[in-house]
Amino acid sequence: MYAYIGIGSNLGNRLENINKAIELLRKNHGIKIKKVSSIIETKPVGGPTQENFLNGVIKIKTDLEPMSLLLILQNIEKKLGRVRMIKNGPRSIDLDILLYDNQKINAPGLKIPHPRMLEREFVMKPLLEIESDILSKI
Ligand code: AMP
Repeated sequence: MYAYIGIGSNLGNRLENINKAIELLRKNHGIKIKKVSSIIETKPVGGPTQENFLNGVIKIKTDLEPMSLLLILQNIEKKLGRVRMIKNGPRSIDLDILLYDNQKINAPGLKIPHPRMLEREFVMKPLLEIESDILSKI
């Protein structure tokens, strides 16, 4: 199955955080990285006044169930020092499942496609860069 992961950071060394997260993903036996978008600087959307983000999108191939994949992403967030303090506040790393195959999931802790991704330029720009025909697939 193919999945698309959104990645973002606006705290500490942002590019290093993003590269470390990609390395941790790469080390996971259940995940193969197929494409990495350009990493772009974006203005924060919502939440308190805060620094700009770096954002990108990664295409992976995996046989992990969506919920197992989410747990792996959350472990990477923890490893890279993400502490949940303020909703939508600064974060050293944020990893979201944007799309998983063509599945639609609406569980309390997991919504796929990721809600509001279509209206977020910081998601759609890198996503369309690596998969220009993605809109015809969702
Ligand atoms: P955030 O703090 O913005 O990273 O949101 C994290 C929360 O969103 C977690 O509690 C997840 O369970 C939930 N969540 C719901 N859908 C998704 C998704 N597609 N990818 C990542 N987290 C999700």
